[in-house]
Amino acid sequence: MPKIANETDLQYKRRVIDIKSASFCGAKWYNATIWLGSGQTTSCHHPLPHQVSVEQVMVNPKALHNTREKKNDRALMQDGLRPKGCDYCWKIEDMPNPVDVVNPSISDRVYKTVIYEDKDLDEAFNTPPEQDVNLQTLEIAFDRTCQFACSYCNPAFSTTWVRDIHRNGPYTNLVSDGRNHFTHTHDSSQLYTINDVNPYVEAFFKWWESDLHKTLKELRITGGEPLMSGYTWRLIEWFKDHRGESKTRLAINSNLGFEQDKLERLLDATEDIELDLYTSNESIGRHAIYIRDGLDWDQWTSNLVYLLDGRKLRGLHVMCTINALCLISLPEFLWKIVELKKKYGKDSINFSLNILRFPSFQSPLVLPLEVREECISQLLPLGNLSVDTLHEFEINQVGRLVSYLKEVDSPHSGAMTNSILQRDFKNFYEQYDQRRGKDFRHTFPQLAEWYDTL
Ligand code: SF4
Repeated sequence: MPKIANETDLQYKRRVIDIKSASFCGAKWYNATIWLGSGQTTSCHHPLPHQVSVEQVMVNPKALHNTREKKNDRALMQDGLRPKGCDYCWKIEDMPNPVDVVNPSISDRVYKTVIYEDKDLDEAFNTPPEQDVNLQTLEIAFDRTCQFACSYCNPAFSTTWVRDIHRNGPYTNLVSDGRNHFTHTHDSSQLYTINDVNPYVEAFFKWWESDLHKTLKELRITGGEPLMSGYTWRLIEWFKDHRGESKTRLAINSNLGFEQDKLERLLDATEDIELDLYTSNESIGRHAIYIRDGLDWDQWTSNLVYLLDGRKLRGLHVMCTINALCLISLPEFLWKIVELKKKYGKDSINFSLNILRFPSFQSPLVLPLEVREECISQLLPLGNLSVDTLHEFEINQVGRLVSYLKEVDSPHSGAMTNSILQRDFKNFYEQYDQRRGKDFRHTFPQLAEWYDTL
């Protein structure tokens, strides 16, 4: 185990990280997100993605991860200097620590380092920066093919969103951040058509088949909707044809918008490996259908039950994106997960609550205070459940959301005023209704009076 017994995060940081340098982070060596459609990569979700050289990956597939930019950053970290792209962490470390006036706040670089073995971190630190390293954890997106067009998503991640913009033109009259998500088709997210040979995808499979499958501990496929991508199935078939040859844990994000036979095919093909399935939802019935355009609520819930009944997964995780429109039925939704936990076991299904910050006009903070307070009062009993029913991290996330809804007044430090965000909220959903054949007032009658005042 990377951490020794009873070691605090700070003690771990001193023992493993600080003795290397003042800015070392294991993610720079061992973790990556790679978008093969656009040929971009980043070390974690904080630094902005950068372009991978197509010429380099054609001669060396490991260049998908070992880019010039990352090698420069590794050299800086070996010297104790701070790569600029990692500002998110430096800002946190430079902030006064509210709970410890002597020691700096712990940033994500500790949490993103602690998952790796000490010996591997030593090796990373001592590797000459120009040398390639093998990934241990990878999130990959093959393409943006998706049959959903959720309101908080955009054309960079969904071909159905692209169709909306192609058919109906850009969304207009939005002024706050995130407006550009909805004004163009984000063609740079998909440099190659389905009929082209994508050199980034080819490089990935070349790397995977030669040695990545031996060293990678965890591979998470995201999208688009990964189960709609032929490349995901090509990879799944590889696992089927090479049973026992890879110890890589596979995780797939899926909207579960399929007939059960597709899931059956997935489970059959992956029965020899550990598979985690991550799906998204955060509200009930017609609310979910409105927010996650393309979703069939009955199909989604019966697919969850199918997966739970099958008990073949290593883990089933529901990712909740906490946006304005889910607040009304979020508590009921979470209670449904509690019911499933009671029936199938606490570990059988987990949830995470990820608070939406962009586009800020869809933040839960745009709602009137009384709507937020009603949600808080319904969330509190969930936060009071014991660890016999929920995991500690789930209870903590409910508590964190309650504090957020109570105390935070702006989605992020650069966000516009609430009245501007509310205007964008209405401008957006008026257009969304027309384009998608939906009806805000009918779906959310509790919000209709307020909505009409905006
Ligand atoms: S230092 Fe922070 S921002 Fe940079 S890769 Fe590590 S966790 Fe990510």
